[in-house]
Amino acid sequence: MNADVIIVGAGPSGLCLARALSGQGLRITLIEKQSLEELSAPSFDGREIALTQDSVGLMKELGLWGNIDPHAKSPLRDAKILNGNSNFSMNISHQLGKHQELGWLISNHLIREAAFKSVQQAIHEHHDITILPNQKVTNVRANNQIGIVNLEGGIELKTQLIIAADSRFSETRRMMGIAAEMHDFGKNMLVCCMSHEKPHEHIAWEWFDYGQTLALLPMNPDPVTGKYRSSVVITVDAQENKLLMEQSSEEFSKGVTKRFMSRLGLMSLISTKHSYPLVSVYPKNLVASRFATIGDAAVGMHPVTAHGFNFGLLGVKTLAREIIQAKQAGLDIGNSDLLLRYQSRHRSQTRPLFLITRLITDIYTKESHPAKLLRKLLIHAGENLRPLKRVIALSLSGSR
Ligand SMILES: Cc1cc2nc3c(=O)[nH]c(=O)nc-3n(C[C@H](O)[C@H](O)[C@H](O)COP(=O)(O)OP(=O)(O)OC[C@H]3O[C@@H](n4cnc5c(N)ncnc54)[C@H](O)[C@@H]3O)c2cc1C
Repeated sequence: MNADVIIVGAGPSGLCLARALSGQGLRITLIEKQSLEELSAPSFDGREIALTQDSVGLMKELGLWGNIDPHAKSPLRDAKILNGNSNFSMNISHQLGKHQELGWLISNHLIREAAFKSVQQAIHEHHDITILPNQKVTNVRANNQIGIVNLEGGIELKTQLIIAADSRFSETRRMMGIAAEMHDFGKNMLVCCMSHEKPHEHIAWEWFDYGQTLALLPMNPDPVTGKYRSSVVITVDAQENKLLMEQSSEEFSKGVTKRFMSRLGLMSLISTKHSYPLVSVYPKNLVASRFATIGDAAVGMHPVTAHGFNFGLLGVKTLAREIIQAKQAGLDIGNSDLLLRYQSRHRSQTRPLFLITRLITDIYTKESHPAKLLRKLLIHAGENLRPLKRVIALSLSGSR
């Protein structure tokens, strides 16, 4: 065997799993198509990731939290949900949970950088992780005895367990013949960072407007100018997204100020703009013979409920625990019972919210007269249903 575990994809999920398995007497190989330079200093990709308190706890255990500059960690105190052009909002307060804040916001590229650093620290300590950068997987196959991974240059690697962490459009998952339920929402999300005149009070906004969905994720003030700063997410159809992407900084800033009805005063673009197609993915199976999926390859969430990477970390925790227990008991770490237990647990932890998210987005993007009425009714009912708000707050602030 060339490795006990081969992880395809050194995104945040693949890196966290490698870190979680390190120090257990396992030989781990991480295969990544990006270069070592890109992995060690990832560039800004527009995404601001809302992390639950449970995720923060796991990031602390894995050493990522301490690798992130404190000013880059922005507390998410409360959240509000708005509908259409009304000022009425459903409010989720941190007071319904167990912490001073619902969760934390951190830029995705900084999470990637911190995860890579913690893998480097693990390599330094345990010498059990090999990173193969600039490598593309061309084939994977497995049977009861062995897993085999082929790389572009003709190299063939043998392992006990192959793990796909290669994004929601996972080629590895496809190569293993696992079908996936994919839903293309026919929209794109534009994400960028903006400064604004009025304070955000560390409240996140999810605004199901007519013809567009807007989100505002509160960041700490700009360290250079001291101005209020937020990550802005604009979900529109592909054509409108293209126009927005092409607009000059001035034109874009003016337009976004108007989209937000000047509720935060004048807004100004202070970063590059990034666009992502809105596609959610749920595979029919999360595992196969000597094969498991994690991260977005296992559950490709719609970002509106901010759970993609949170579920990624949950999967890392569940799978790592199974593998480590098997290793400690002297069992085969790729045995099918172990993989099926992981699948069953991860499905039950993720499937309900995956389906609820789909339902919410279906309802809140419809614009017929009855749909508008239903949207209004639901948001008013939601605001008055304290138990529901408490469930939402606890799902963010977590059980710790
Ligand atoms: C706009 C937006 C906002 C989001 N907001 C939130 C949020 O608030 N909260 C939250 O929890 N989540 C959020 N998410 C989701 C979160 O970004 C993802 O869940 C997370 O980045 C997935 O990490 P990953 O490691 O599974 O996959 P990825 O980040 O996609 O990494 C996959 C890695 O695999 C590599 N790779 C791919 N194919 C191959 C191959 N064949 N061979 C070798 N390497 C390969 C890639 O280069 C990459 O490094 C958001 C997503 C978007 C788009």
